[in-house]
Amino acid sequence: MSKDYDLYINGQFSKGENEARLTVINPSDESVVGSVPSATLAETDAAVAAARLAFDSGVWSGLSPAQRAEALLRIAAEVKADQETLVDLLIKESGSTVGKANGEVNLAIKTLTYYAKLLQSPYEEAAIAADEEAALYSHNFIRREAIGVCAAIVPWNFPLSLGVWKIAPALAAGNTIVVKPPSEAPLALLAFAKAVHRAGLPKGVFNMLTGSGKVIGEALAAHPLVDKVAFTGSTEVGKRVMSLAAQSNLKITTLELGGKSANILLEDADLDEAIDGALFAFLYHSGQVCESGTRLLVPRSKYEEVIKRLVERAEKLKIGDPGDPETSIGPVISKRQQEKIAAYISGAIKEGARLVLGGEPLSGKTFEKGFWVRPTIFADVKNEMTIAREEIFGPVLSVIAYDSEEEAIRIANDSIYGLGGGVWSKDYRRAVEVAKQLRTGTVWINSYHLLSPIAPFGGYKQSGIGRELGLQGLLAYTQTKHIHLDLANDRGARYQRFLGQATKK
Ligand code: NAD
Repeated sequence: MSKDYDLYINGQFSKGENEARLTVINPSDESVVGSVPSATLAETDAAVAAARLAFDSGVWSGLSPAQRAEALLRIAAEVKADQETLVDLLIKESGSTVGKANGEVNLAIKTLTYYAKLLQSPYEEAAIAADEEAALYSHNFIRREAIGVCAAIVPWNFPLSLGVWKIAPALAAGNTIVVKPPSEAPLALLAFAKAVHRAGLPKGVFNMLTGSGKVIGEALAAHPLVDKVAFTGSTEVGKRVMSLAAQSNLKITTLELGGKSANILLEDADLDEAIDGALFAFLYHSGQVCESGTRLLVPRSKYEEVIKRLVERAEKLKIGDPGDPETSIGPVISKRQQEKIAAYISGAIKEGARLVLGGEPLSGKTFEKGFWVRPTIFADVKNEMTIAREEIFGPVLSVIAYDSEEEAIRIANDSIYGLGGGVWSKDYRRAVEVAKQLRTGTVWINSYHLLSPIAPFGGYKQSGIGRELGLQGLLAYTQTKHIHLDLANDRGARYQRFLGQATKK
């Protein structure tokens, strides 16, 4: 049954004025999952105008934090009630495995609940400790106020959770929002819009538009009535979004972009654990994760053993129907992505990397249709090679040998990206010392990919600007205001030197 969803503008669902719709394809078998409207620029303006009106009227920002928290909890409850539908949509539209799809819905619920809880402790106003000399007998306090109208542009790999990472803190802080889901996988977010509708927010506070990134995404980034744009996607598009945001009205911009994260096995790592962890780090969601551990750095003394064990374990992984709970690896998102990955694999072979697993197409009935890539491992990779430098966004691992811990850190940091990374060691102190030296926004020690709403996430270097999640993720949707209350007894005397004669009675 085709799943067709609508635009959500000013509290109303509509099919949209454009008759042509975007078709959503199941990457496992190329069947049609559903369709969504291709919004027009006029509809984009209408969504922004609704969000502007709602913000300026104070229907949302004027509520108390406790009232906004209640609304977030109502949304979380609606999402929970809809978990089965959302999981099904994520499996069908983005090739998510059952575990990944459930994990994504759970993370969305946890994020909404976390920001509702955060609103219980006062974050809006804080007095600055008195310092009479510096403050000239005044009382000073800092307020955190909503920014205004926010636009959220979301990618296809984790559409629901990455959408909610923006929506939950934006709404928590009192902003209104227009969300643009990814064209490849828009359905779960549109189903989420229904959950928001049922939760009963004031009209215009939350809006959602589907359509091309080039048209709708750019229109939002450049819109003069939008005060902040939060973008997750490729570094290339992120740069474009930032320049549009700057040129239009210098809107506040947060960017969560690409990565080429290094996963470092130290000499004393527990190899059983580290090898399974390394497979999870590069193969989760078929490698289509921004912080995937795609460069595995291994001490030369353990190199051949690690390669052999990685290959043995990876060969046993179940690839196929992502809806089967036993499946570890589903398809990649599209034909275009499959071809891009294949080009990186043949390029790596030409550059002299040693292919030790994968590389060839999968055969069998399951794989006749759909976009499949076998887990692929390259040994003898030099960090200068293209596969070690560019983000592939597929199940491809580069295993790189190192001779000293300093060299491992240098290789890890030799990248234009700085999103994630891993360190595997039995010695926590040593692992923390290495983690501190990695120029990335997140480092996992003896683990990988685990994200929680309490901890900020984001990138160094060309992996992004700003942070999502945690208290920082909430503050990223606020403006800072300083209020200076003058308490001096002889305030009139302050102006005497400036006003001179005029102050004499
Ligand atoms: P993408 O940059 O092509 O698209 C991301 C979003 O931007 C989509 O909604 C798309 O429609 C929209 N878009 C496309 N062109 C646009 C334009 N010119 N102006 C405005 N919006 C535009 O990325 P993708 O292929 O959807 O996702 C994969 C990329 O996202 C990878 O590079 C990955 O590393 C990155 N990513 C980063 C994070 C993170 O948190 N750092 C998380 C997930 C994905």
